[in-house]
Amino acid sequence: MNILVANLGSTSFKFRLFRFDEAGAALLARGGYERVTDHGRAIDDCLAELKAAGHVQSASDLHGVGFKTVLGRNLTGCVPADERVIAALEGFKDIAPAHNPPYAAGIRRFQEKLPGVPLVALFETAFYQWMPEAATRYAVPETWYQAGVRRHGFHGASHKFIAERSAELLGRDDIARRVSGLYQDGPGPESGPPLRVISCHLGGSSSITGIRNGLAVGTSMGLSPQSGLPQNNRVGDLDSAAVPYMLKTLGLPLAEIERQLVQESGLLGLSGVGNDLRDLRAAAAQGNARARLALEVFTHSARHWIGAFHFELGGCEAIVFTAGIGENNPDLRAAILRDLGQLGLVLDPAKNEALRGAEGEISAPASRVRVFVIPANEELVVARETLRCIAARN
Ligand code: AMP
Repeated sequence: MNILVANLGSTSFKFRLFRFDEAGAALLARGGYERVTDHGRAIDDCLAELKAAGHVQSASDLHGVGFKTVLGRNLTGCVPADERVIAALEGFKDIAPAHNPPYAAGIRRFQEKLPGVPLVALFETAFYQWMPEAATRYAVPETWYQAGVRRHGFHGASHKFIAERSAELLGRDDIARRVSGLYQDGPGPESGPPLRVISCHLGGSSSITGIRNGLAVGTSMGLSPQSGLPQNNRVGDLDSAAVPYMLKTLGLPLAEIERQLVQESGLLGLSGVGNDLRDLRAAAAQGNARARLALEVFTHSARHWIGAFHFELGGCEAIVFTAGIGENNPDLRAAILRDLGQLGLVLDPAKNEALRGAEGEISAPASRVRVFVIPANEELVVARETLRCIAARN
């Protein structure tokens, strides 16, 4: 089975082609285009590339296309990418302006170009469908809630993968199975003792999710991917009073405030150096105080959210680091998990230092809380979920 994963940005189109057989998944091809103005043309180019490479001669060689859609109005899950998905994306285009319009347009193009090939949308919000209602609500008037102002959660593909893989690593195949079929079968009944995991997706965009028996109980991201931890250029959590204050005090128009919150805030805004953790670390090592502070703010925020979910879950069996920052920065991991002896958490400094970009355990054998690094591969997650969705419908 060949599954194409289409990753659409406002001016970019990236793709990966996976082949699934009894041996598992293999990446057959990957590619992409920047400065895209015509997504239809980019899709044509992608299909031509796959044909020239001998992977996909005709539509019958393609068994599905998966889209990592962000959020839709009144719709989530892993579902056929049809008119209902397009309407849901358009209904929330003002919350995710960089993502929803290109995905809606891209799905339409694939519908035209590959009639008969199953198209599947995996919403980033899907993993949060079973979150307790109290964890989803802001204290806003009912009309705001009815308009969609609530905590939706993001990075669902990544956190679901962590829920599944961490359960396997902890010997809980019952929970891994529960997570694997979640979007087709729903959560079903609980089994066995509780398994509590805190998943830390730390990358260009970061979020932390508390997971009990494979289901999210809370997450750091809210209405939009603007919230929670400081992001690369995006603000993360901010008191809502800041917007009217800057509007009145600096006389900034709303569009400029929005632009600065999205493009000039986060690690870039704090450090003044850049939005990439490697640049911040290099600057901090040379004595740049703002870069050092940006790293400390990021660490402080990560500890805040891990602490919140540790308390909410009543403890945890494992903490997992994933994504570019979480996988590759042992000293940041150590800073985030410092002084947690009272919780029985003990890192193994040598294992932590040695582990970069690969899967492994970095806690000491005596640690009551186990700590893992699990590499993210969101495209593979989308491909796997697309396959599961297609199989469930056949
Ligand atoms: P992601 O969004 O998951 O691709 O993560 C991007 C972030 O991960 C950037 O801030 C990078 O600085 C950081 N990152 C990626 N690779 C490394 C590495 N080898 N060492 C340190 N940081 C890294």
